[in-house]
Amino acid sequence: MSNSYPNLLRPLDLGFTTLRNRVMMGSMHTGLEEHADGFQRMARFFGERAAGQAGLIVTGGFAPNQAGNLGPLDATLDGKEDGHRLITDAVHQADGKILLQVLHGGRYARRPDAVAPSAIASRINPITPRAMEGDEILQTIEDFAICAQRARDAGYDGVEIMGSEGYLITQFISTRTNQRDDVWGGSFENRIRFPVDVLRRTREVCGKDFIILYRLSVLDLVEGGLSWDETVKLAQALEAAGATMFNSGVGWHEALIPTIMHSVPRGAFTWATARLMGKVGVPIIASNRINNPDQAEALITAGDADMVSMARPFLADADIVAKTIAGKTDQINTCIGCNQGCLDYIFKGKVSTCLVNPRACSETEFEITPAQTTKNIAVVGAGPGGLSYAITAAERGQKVTIYEGSGRIGGQFNMAMAVPGKEEYGETIRYWGSQIDRLGITLNLNHRATVDELRTGGFDEVILATGVTPRSLDLPGSDHASVLSYVDVLQNGAQVGSRVAIIGAGGIGFDVAEFLSHGDGAHDGPRDPAAPDIEAWLTQWGIDRHSDGGLSPNGPAMTSPRAITLLQRKAQSLGRGLGLTTGWAIRAELNMKGVEMIGGVSYRKIDDAGLHITVDGEDRVVAVDNVIICAGQEEQRELYDELAAAGIRVHLIGGADKAGELDALRAIEQGMRLAAAA
Ligand code: NAP
Ligand code: SF4
Repeated sequence: MSNSYPNLLRPLDLGFTTLRNRVMMGSMHTGLEEHADGFQRMARFFGERAAGQAGLIVTGGFAPNQAGNLGPLDATLDGKEDGHRLITDAVHQADGKILLQVLHGGRYARRPDAVAPSAIASRINPITPRAMEGDEILQTIEDFAICAQRARDAGYDGVEIMGSEGYLITQFISTRTNQRDDVWGGSFENRIRFPVDVLRRTREVCGKDFIILYRLSVLDLVEGGLSWDETVKLAQALEAAGATMFNSGVGWHEALIPTIMHSVPRGAFTWATARLMGKVGVPIIASNRINNPDQAEALITAGDADMVSMARPFLADADIVAKTIAGKTDQINTCIGCNQGCLDYIFKGKVSTCLVNPRACSETEFEITPAQTTKNIAVVGAGPGGLSYAITAAERGQKVTIYEGSGRIGGQFNMAMAVPGKEEYGETIRYWGSQIDRLGITLNLNHRATVDELRTGGFDEVILATGVTPRSLDLPGSDHASVLSYVDVLQNGAQVGSRVAIIGAGGIGFDVAEFLSHGDGAHDGPRDPAAPDIEAWLTQWGIDRHSDGGLSPNGPAMTSPRAITLLQRKAQSLGRGLGLTTGWAIRAELNMKGVEMIGGVSYRKIDDAGLHITVDGEDRVVAVDNVIICAGQEEQRELYDELAAAGIRVHLIGGADKAGELDALRAIEQGMRLAAAA
């Protein structure tokens, strides 16, 4: 039992009940809420997190009535108490506690019957909501309370009322979305009447011994956001109405500032929670980009919060708290903030998963069980796919030997972690290393496996995870001294001039643009994610602690040390292939830094004058010091044919299997599934 986290692991007494520690698994919509076999899967999903010692769990959002659903499907509790009972039983069997989140989408609902305080559409939803009638508002307050009562009947320990991120409750509070002239609009007191009445009525209906957590927007990050004085007054009114605790919400979904993706520094917004401490008499929870126990312990020790919320970190590792209790924090599979498997999947209408833990939300179909027969397995390549296979196979009791040509594990993640804002990728490499040690996997670095040794090494199977090689271009001048590949830039520390053209605008082209447009342009190596420069980041994005809603009147302040031109052949806007929930911020940042983005390009040649292109029928020379090739990759699989010819059972995985459209999620999932089934 670790005594390194005395404050984080200290129980939290709520008067009528006690939470076993200060780590809450925050609410995440997983797509299971409306899924056909969602209840069984959620019971397993939440049950595993409760067994992993989460202090408190909050479900994804459930709507109080039909109009409050975020999409066309029904996520109300109406008639579904038995399904919810599966969830609460599973959590209680593991001595956990769980709240149901009650969320009304308001004008964010993508459904024709969407309602809001006023008929004002949001920039993120094409549907204009209908303004609610007075009696409809009263009924909606009642619906929140009825939903909470149903949650109580289904065994939940309480509810979280979603009062942030721009959903219905926030829409009542802000003049941006509430232009009513009745008792629900106008003055501040009128605008907060809806949330206060929701809370009061929920408390009346559910009684005193029921947790009512209210998610309060501590920073709106939109025009028309609340002032800090108003936020405090709102919190105090909600406390008087019966709130048990407050959780922090940061930024409306329509805000033009990222709040949780990888480039947001750890703990970037905890100051907004800290200033609420002492203003109310109930516990306060910090959230957003808190992903590890050291950071969480420091926050609570400093008195900046009473508890922390980690949502995605519980997708990445169900046992994050159990490992903290056991003092095995080096074994935590840390959430890297990529959004690739969770939010990006949700926005595509898919069930959530996790890039670093593809089992998340699929626990019922994805069992890692002891192997029936023990095999001797060679894995060639220690990138994401190979390591995922090796760790899963070793977990099942297989004897695994890894061969890696370079001097380190991690493959392409080593380049990713060099990109400013993607330092967290180094945490996954740390995790993989800890599993290699724990499971006794034999690791041979700086060792290119030969066909002979694989043939004579007594291996039952060989996994080829040899990855990819950068595509070279058949372009006149591609051997010019100014030409570099992304590997030269991201991995080998190549010197790059002040004017740069980047050929290829996929994920890596954008990564290279980010890398070269950062700070003073020095190659100072990856930064430590545990020591971020939060002030610099807030200034860059135009966040002002003292302005209403947190927006600086001067706006964002971003500069680049280099003139960068990013190019692609496709005649469409650049960056369409980036993640849905991260791409907009990456593009916005590079635009603000003055990066020129050109689509529909034909490349003609490279010479001393620079890169010669044709766009819209016109020839142009992009005068640059360096041209950097980021034109995708090709499979690297030279061992495959010889091994197969020698009669060895060979499996190709990851980039060696298919380089096109390769992403780490696919490689890690492929490795894990193959090893789980072997
Ligand atoms: P990619 O996404 O396939 O992009 C390759 C780029 O090169 C495209 O812009 C393509 O556009 C261009 N290209 C392809 N063949 C070319 C040729 N013969 N001549 C000139 N240009 C050519 O590959 P990547 O950027 O190397 O990324 C690899 C994988 O890593 C991707 O699947 C990506 O998902 C993942 N990744 C994602 C991120 C992220 O989302 N932030 C970051 C890093 C990596 P045109 O054909 O239009 O010119
Ligand atoms: Fe975290 Fe990425 Fe996993 Fe989402 S997919 S939980 S952001 S590591």
